[in-house]
Amino acid sequence: MLSLGLPRDAGVPLRLLLLGAHCDDIEIGCGGTVLQLLSGRPGVHVTWVVFSSTPVREQEARASAALFLQDAARDSTVVVKRFRDGFFPHEGAEIKQFFEALKKDVDPHLVFTHYRDDRHQDHRTVSDLTWNTWRRHTILEYEIPKYDGDLGRPNVYSPLSREVCERKARHICEMFQSEGNKAWMTDDTFLALARLRGIECAAPGGYAEAFHGRKLVLGS
Ligand SMILES: [Zn+2]
Repeated sequence: MLSLGLPRDAGVPLRLLLLGAHCDDIEIGCGGTVLQLLSGRPGVHVTWVVFSSTPVREQEARASAALFLQDAARDSTVVVKRFRDGFFPHEGAEIKQFFEALKKDVDPHLVFTHYRDDRHQDHRTVSDLTWNTWRRHTILEYEIPKYDGDLGRPNVYSPLSREVCERKARHICEMFQSEGNKAWMTDDTFLALARLRGIECAAPGGYAEAFHGRKLVLGS
């Protein structure tokens, strides 16, 4: 399959914006792609935004983001907000204001956000506001496995090695100990989904993360 790669312009480091409603969403949705992207090109600038947290979860989120961003540009930014978990549609005005403020600071080449049809209401709110806010940007929506069984049919794939997927899964399970009571948070959850997505894109390494790309512009 022909791979449509990201541009490599030595004069302009790639700028990524990663948006996650909850503390572990970014890692689960696109952690492997982030690890691979950052290890393959120096100086990528990342803005990593988590919308909901508690003091304990914020500590975990910051420690985890630091682990995933080891190879990112030093001036990369991690923002952890305290919007109320589970209530995003009802706190929409405040969250929208935050998006508007973020837009002034961040002009990303590529945005990773939640899937528009995700059944978690917080995820959907973040996805909708992403599209409201960045209207000339490339946006990819990631997927989160969950009880609701809302995985769709993604159409953009990021082939990964098993080693990267194992590193992602290990990082998540180690860093988010306060989630230890959640039966689904195990290495095999993340490896299983990545293996299936790897099959769908004939990934050379057998694994992949997958995204919903609603619109993509073909360069010449
Ligand atoms: Zn979430």
